[in-house]
Amino acid sequence: MSAWRSRFLADASDWQSAGLKRQRRVVRPVSATQVEVDARVVTAFASNDYLGLSRHPRLIEALAEGARRFGAGAGASHLVSGHHAVHEALEHELASFAGKPAALAFMNGYVANLALLTTLAGDGDAIFSDELNHASIVDGARLSRAAVHVYAHADLDALEALLRSSTARQRLVVTDAVFSMDGDIAPLRALLALCEQHDALLVVDDAHGIGVWGPEGRGSVHALGLQSEYIVYMGTLGKAAGLSGAFVAAEQLIIDRLIQRGRPYVFSTASLPALAHATLTALELVRSADAERRQLERHRERLRKFASAWQPFRLLASAMPIQPLVVGDNATVIRIAEALLKEGLWVPAIRPPTVPAGSARLRITLSGAHTDADVDRLGTALSHIVARAGTIPT
Ligand code: PMP
Repeated sequence: MSAWRSRFLADASDWQSAGLKRQRRVVRPVSATQVEVDARVVTAFASNDYLGLSRHPRLIEALAEGARRFGAGAGASHLVSGHHAVHEALEHELASFAGKPAALAFMNGYVANLALLTTLAGDGDAIFSDELNHASIVDGARLSRAAVHVYAHADLDALEALLRSSTARQRLVVTDAVFSMDGDIAPLRALLALCEQHDALLVVDDAHGIGVWGPEGRGSVHALGLQSEYIVYMGTLGKAAGLSGAFVAAEQLIIDRLIQRGRPYVFSTASLPALAHATLTALELVRSADAERRQLERHRERLRKFASAWQPFRLLASAMPIQPLVVGDNATVIRIAEALLKEGLWVPAIRPPTVPAGSARLRITLSGAHTDADVDRLGTALSHIVARAGTIPT
């Protein structure tokens, strides 16, 4: 057998036996919270579409109208001939949404983080990164050629010690605002104070804060009333905003640098003008979604009342729609997720390397589009399944 085939087969078999084989389920959306999988309709607690906007008639119409008005593809990268008027208009709106002097739109959050970290830090610089940061931050930091210091989760003392002993030419601290697999919130105010004290940029990845947190859903930095030239804000548009894409909002000098030197920006075809057009509508819808944000908060309180029945598994403290139930081992979390699916409830089982080994979990994600009855059904089904967890057939 060829070397590549035997190695890849061995890896695939290791993943299978360790409970780490990923499976893509083919879904057909039925509503903002229901999908058809395996020929049956289930209620999903699995999407980051926190406000249910992906099914909003105005957003769907805006996407169609954008295609009719501006055509399909952008045709070229932004620096060649692909920077359409609607992209430019969107960037103005994104800057105003984020309360920053300038903004730059990206294809998605993964690419935005790669562009940010590789453009703002390089050889001779230092990046300080929370150990639970998203994979796109980990990869961007690696790619940057800066020295990377990973600090224990939200540990300000550890970070301060690292900053104090750093002799790097320039420092950059990067953090998820809301941690994607834990739902907890970074100590942003204290992080900013440290950054200002140590003359370090603070990159805030608000993928899970934008839309759900703060006045008009304008995200973590707004919610906490933080303003500083040191903050570089990254928001994504594929989750609460219901579309796809991302943006960076920061000082003009930082945005100009990204335009000049952000390789994923410079060397990619611009995203669809229709998407930019629809994103303008998405921002309006996000700003006016107070009812959905209140509903999310009520659902969160409702769900958490069931937590005592889920012991020994631990529902992590989270003030956000991400409500993770830590189960521990991979096989058990898969069995629980499968038992839920049999009850018509879809909650993804998250395993390493997405989360640390031994902390496999159900990542329950709430949406403003869920009903009270949906939340109760999940709470009750999970209580029954956990009660008989020892006897779930393997
Ligand atoms: N950052 C965080 C914290 C995320 O959770 C995600 C998406 N899982 C991303 C960045 C990447 O964003 P996108 O899906 O737009 O590539």
